[in-house]
Amino acid sequence: MAVNVFHEYGELLDCHTCDEKLREERGHDKAGIIGFRIGRERIFRCPLMLITPLTYEYVKAFSFYEKSILPNGKGWQEESQKYTQAMLVLDSEFSKIRNKENKDGANRIKHSSKSN
Ligand SMILES: [Zn+2]
Repeated sequence: MAVNVFHEYGELLDCHTCDEKLREERGHDKAGIIGFRIGRERIFRCPLMLITPLTYEYVKAFSFYEKSILPNGKGWQEESQKYTQAMLVLDSEFSKIRNKENKDGANRIKHSSKSN
């Protein structure tokens, strides 16, 4: 779930940039009026509210990890085992989503060339 949220909104959303009106519309504190698509679901809460702060930190770390930027802060070093494990889990979760999208894309291309 958290991975889905990040896949769709991770780079788009930042609660710190939302003003009070936006928070209300996006359902930051309670159900809002703007729907967000998460996988096949649609929610009326700020997607980032579905993610625990720790998960958020891990997923942020993962995007650095993917760019081969390794953590050198003390916090991560003390938890390097947890960090490594989290990166592996996220890696496999993200590749599942990406593989699925590639497949969907391939099917779509196949399908449209068939109908031509
Ligand atoms: Zn928010």
